[in-house]
Amino acid sequence: MAEAYDPGNIFAKILRGEIPSHRVYEDDAVVAFMDVMPQGTGHTLVVPKAPSRNMLDADPATFGPLFTVVQKVAVAVKKAFNADGVTIMQFNEPASGQTVYHLHVHVVPRFEGVPLKPHSGQMEKPEVLAENAGKIRAALAG
Ligand code: AMP
Repeated sequence: MAEAYDPGNIFAKILRGEIPSHRVYEDDAVVAFMDVMPQGTGHTLVVPKAPSRNMLDADPATFGPLFTVVQKVAVAVKKAFNADGVTIMQFNEPASGQTVYHLHVHVVPRFEGVPLKPHSGQMEKPEVLAENAGKIRAALAG
């Protein structure tokens, strides 16, 4: 049986504003913010506000608004960083590599010949995250 959703997880705390994040987008259903251990420049997380551990226990109604924002953010990061492509990733349960148990989608700008850095690897400097978030917000604004 699947484990229960834990409202004490770090993304739930970010959604409640209990811990800081570099937000780039928010609407009624979805928030997007910078991954603090980016696998590439501009790595962004898109997170539905509705609680679920991952895709396996999510209400299917979550996916329309979530993936609408995933597409918006993917287009914006490609533009913001003049990327060659965008990798979209999503993990379900520990065996898959999931480390935070609130559904989220990774959006990572990609550049020809540049490999992804390790998952949950090195912490990025806050000033770099802030600068990259500003570029993504500007691209989202048009
Ligand atoms: P996953 O392994 O798919 O659950 O990914 C969780 C992601 O959250 C990893 O890429 C981490 O680098 C990232 N992460 C962990 N803590 C934070 C945080 N406080 N703010 C932003 N991203 C985080």
